[in-house]
Amino acid sequence: MPSGAKRFFKLFAKNLKEAKGPGQYSTNGIAITCVHCYHNQFKHGYALLNTSLMSFLNLDFANRSANTLTCDRCGYIHWFNKEIDRI
Ligand SMILES: [Zn+2]
Repeated sequence: MPSGAKRFFKLFAKNLKEAKGPGQYSTNGIAITCVHCYHNQFKHGYALLNTSLMSFLNLDFANRSANTLTCDRCGYIHWFNKEIDRI
């Protein structure tokens, strides 16, 4: 493989890792720390705020998604019903 392509793939893998890896987040201008162990590295995810009544009535559009931050150290899941920023 030419060295240029090799470098590209290395960089690509690095960016992919950084985009998906744990990071620091803030909301409302305040840095988020784990409520359990005070760690500040989290994995970001989404969770549906699903209500069975809404699904039963076929009103899935009324279901909203929340941001979740899982502590990278102890695994405690923090739920946020607003936008959070990666810092
Ligand atoms: Zn924690």
